[in-house]
Amino acid sequence: MVNVKKLDIQYGFNFDNSYLKLPPIFHQKQKPTTVSNPNIVLFNDVFAASLGLNTDVVKKQGGQFLTGNLLMNGSEPIAQAYAGHQFGHFNILGDGRAILLGEHITPNKQRVDIQLKGAGRTPYSRSGDGRAALGPMLREYIMSEAMHALGIATTRSLAVATTGEPVYREAPYPGAVLTRIAASHIRVGTFQFAAATQNQQQLQALTDYTIHRHFPEVANTDNPPLELLKRVIDLQALLIAKWMHVGFIHGVMNTDNMSICGETIDYGPCAFMNSYHPETVFSSIDTNGRYSFGNQPNIAHWNLIRLAESLLPLIHESEEQSIAMVTACLQEFPNQFFAYWLADMRKKLGIFNQEDEDIKLAEDLLMHMQKNKSDFTNTFRALAQKSAESTALYQDAGFKNWLTLWKARLSRQNETFADSIVLMQSVNPAVIPRNHLVEEALDAAVSNNDMSPLHKLLSVLSNPYAALDHSSKYTQPPALLFDEQYKTFCGT
Ligand code: AMP
Ligand code: MG
Repeated sequence: MVNVKKLDIQYGFNFDNSYLKLPPIFHQKQKPTTVSNPNIVLFNDVFAASLGLNTDVVKKQGGQFLTGNLLMNGSEPIAQAYAGHQFGHFNILGDGRAILLGEHITPNKQRVDIQLKGAGRTPYSRSGDGRAALGPMLREYIMSEAMHALGIATTRSLAVATTGEPVYREAPYPGAVLTRIAASHIRVGTFQFAAATQNQQQLQALTDYTIHRHFPEVANTDNPPLELLKRVIDLQALLIAKWMHVGFIHGVMNTDNMSICGETIDYGPCAFMNSYHPETVFSSIDTNGRYSFGNQPNIAHWNLIRLAESLLPLIHESEEQSIAMVTACLQEFPNQFFAYWLADMRKKLGIFNQEDEDIKLAEDLLMHMQKNKSDFTNTFRALAQKSAESTALYQDAGFKNWLTLWKARLSRQNETFADSIVLMQSVNPAVIPRNHLVEEALDAAVSNNDMSPLHKLLSVLSNPYAALDHSSKYTQPPALLFDEQYKTFCGT
């Protein structure tokens, strides 16, 4: 034991576990299942340092800890219970292959969850094996770190470690564990789970806990559960607007995959759109387009209604009153989303002041992009690089006309064109994790044990707004028809 303590001081983990204090229905004690040959294959040095971890020591010796073979001192591992609407159908779920090691307090006093994804079976595993394959864990690492660098709230990835054991899917794959760091793993589905127990004290306990952890400012208001709902509505409106501005498609916006604190969570079949089309879907199982690019605001709204339903008993003793109160808040979601969307869209177009016609200007650009199957990222970046005239879209007379209107619009503000360029370059990324590049990097890593394309990709993605030569392969859309055939899968 003395040794373990010593190691912990070296590692820098600083646990203070509060989730365990919730009523027992919300979690089950569960240690990770040991693995035969742990080996860290990817480690996030910069992020580890910001968490207060001793990067060199963790990286060199931490494989045992980051696969769950050894527990850090202070870790009290649990699997969390939750429920969720999956493609509209309600199910009782829970961490089937993720284990929360505990909550770590960072040097600047942030409380974060440390979770191992792929750490073995739990009481919530149902028929699953509790394991994860290397490819999907590396994929989550790339996508979440790219989102973070784009400035979008997200869970983070600290490391991926292989287990030395195969996982069996359609074929055997190397098994791996992702160390995921999140502000918390409380989901809309956690509230649905609490509501489904029909025990108001339990629902109240989760609500109080969530308010204390994420929204302490609402604790002393007249109606904390209602204020909690309003805060979550606002954070989701902001988050989805950010997704829409970089072409991110989550792919599986089930209520169990929507975090209460407004972080993007659960990178399964997610992907970035290349050519602009609101109906874009990559997920192999999303045959009706429920989670298509353009439907994300509607689905977020639908999920928030599920959250509100769960909170009803705490909001007012009269159900009718409660419904009236939450309905008034929920009705605001489309406006809140649109206000965030428009504010950032103005930035994407280099606009500082406000005119009513800005909405039409933005929508017309999207219409030209859709008609011409233009690359979403590169079209905005071309505006920011004064190179719109050299895009294929410029052959379209409608777009040419749009450019004239846009330039006229930019002249109707105090800021100069140079100011607009600076603004646009700060919000229109030059690089996103394009599907073909992600696949190329994963293929090299998983099939050839070659991590260099992945490291190179991560390095480019870590600075997405930097000017890049447009001939760089990282800015190029995939070959014709790649996207038509590209399918993503739930992170199994
Ligand atoms: P996801 O699609 O990753 O959001 O997972 C949906 C539910 O299935 C969650 O309750 C997961 O914990 C569970 N799950 C996914 N994959 C596995 C697996 N390999 N073993 C056990 N449970 C799993
Ligand atoms: Mg999930």
